[in-house]
Amino acid sequence: MHLERVEMIGFKSFADKTVIEFDKGVTAIVGPNGSGKSNLSEAIRWVLGEQSAKNLRGMKMNDIVFSGSDSRKPVNIAEVTLVLNNEDRTLPIDFTEVSLTRRINRNGETECFINRKPCRLKDLTDLLMDSGIGKDSFSLISQGKVEKIFQSKPEERRFIFEEAAGVAKYKTRKLGAERKLNETREHLNRVEDILHEIK
Ligand code: ATP
Repeated sequence: MHLERVEMIGFKSFADKTVIEFDKGVTAIVGPNGSGKSNLSEAIRWVLGEQSAKNLRGMKMNDIVFSGSDSRKPVNIAEVTLVLNNEDRTLPIDFTEVSLTRRINRNGETECFINRKPCRLKDLTDLLMDSGIGKDSFSLISQGKVEKIFQSKPEERRFIFEEAAGVAKYKTRKLGAERKLNETREHLNRVEDILHEIK
């Protein structure tokens, strides 16, 4: 699987529709300071499920919507689409090309799409789990992350290996199941209390 194309409109400095093709062999993106290199990597990270505005250098998530420039008025919607080549079926979905889209408006309302069909953000991140391209995977290493990995505690570093080995998905599901189990136990206790009172 590889990233074939990124399409952006209204995302940070990319007010107009911008399509960036990643032909095989592209290894670097260069440009003058402020030309949008970091914005492009943030656009990718955002579609992959980033939920922290701070990690996208903003205060609120809707700060990523183009806020205007000397020559252009602000826009109301930011939309980014990643087009992935899935010929090798790395993503467990029966399409050779998969498009992942995330959209946000000025009010902070977001929408997600897989192959242009509306879905939840969770569906999108679930699809990416174990593919090696989640927002926290090594496919995107932000400035300072290398240092952070070296300085992290062994347990934190273990999470990285778990993501790479494909067990992160099961750990997340286990946590969800345990949470539900605890809730059910609490409900059962309540029922037993009520039964006790009735008796
Ligand atoms: P450097 O090489 O200095 O790190 P860069 O190529 O990575 O630069 P970016 O940081 O991606 O550049 O882009 C910064 C530009 O994006 C700035 O001009 C900033 O004003 C613009 N920008 C960021 N957010 C928005 C926004 N919401 N609306 C409009 N422009 C924005």
